[in-house]
Amino acid sequence: MKITFLGTSAGIPTKNRYLSALALQFENSREWILFDCGEGTQYRLMQTPLSPFNLSKIFITHLHGDHIYGLFGLLASRGLSRAEKDIEIYGPFGIKELLNTVFRLSQLNLPFNMKVTEILNEDILSFGNFTVEIKKLSHSITSFGFIVNGVQKRGRFDVEKAKMAGIPEGPLYGRLKRGETVTLPDGRIVDGKDFISAPRRGKRVIIGGDNDNPFIFKCKDVDVMIHEATYTQRDFEKLPRKFMHSTAKSVAEAAASLGVKRLILTHISPRYDKNDKIDEILDEAQKYFKGRVEVAYDLMKIDV
Ligand SMILES: [Zn+2]
Ligand SMILES: [Zn+2]
Repeated sequence: MKITFLGTSAGIPTKNRYLSALALQFENSREWILFDCGEGTQYRLMQTPLSPFNLSKIFITHLHGDHIYGLFGLLASRGLSRAEKDIEIYGPFGIKELLNTVFRLSQLNLPFNMKVTEILNEDILSFGNFTVEIKKLSHSITSFGFIVNGVQKRGRFDVEKAKMAGIPEGPLYGRLKRGETVTLPDGRIVDGKDFISAPRRGKRVIIGGDNDNPFIFKCKDVDVMIHEATYTQRDFEKLPRKFMHSTAKSVAEAAASLGVKRLILTHISPRYDKNDKIDEILDEAQKYFKGRVEVAYDLMKIDV
């Protein structure tokens, strides 16, 4: 999987950071998926090789403006560019009404079909080569997180093992690779499955929405956890009003308890970006999570 961060600010954009959005693309596929679509998403996309023509699915974590106000512009531009490929949109209850109202009042007729599905409960959606597990989060309005499970990879054919067993190279290897049972020239009968390693699980990525309880995710074998860390714990405690967000400390502790391999913090309050204090978020997280941890920035790309 390849992930590109398109917006990493919380609430209000800054000069460097647009609002929440990230793109996910599987290997060997031109299609890509968008998670959240804050304002600025379509501008950031122009700075990447990702074409809105190949956008197939959109998942919206919640209906706060910093996660969805870019969606109308992106879809309208995609329509005006005559993209015809259908698009699936998943989001919380209310997203249908929101989209229908905007498009009806703007008299916008799109040249592609939009299949909008409202998420009402936790669920697992299967898309053939990957699944998306939906988790209900803790935020001031209904908010969801997504656990993306990549396709399980088939086991590998162990050429060395076949050679050691004295199996002559050639067409027999092809049949063994397919798991067939074959009779060797010397009369032995061998089962291809004995030369194929166990299937490897697909990669697993947590993509959290706004959430003040990162411990909600209770899954194992997480390759990457992407979660909001709007504040440091110290600043959060000083806030006169709490907005149901996570801190670098709480996310780092949750990531440590889940044993995630790599933690990426995003949805950073503009107060850190404007004052050149992003390192405060990182430093705090590093105190509580000893694995690889980074603070995302716009157009940051990672391979999972
Ligand atoms: Zn937000
Ligand atoms: Zn929110």
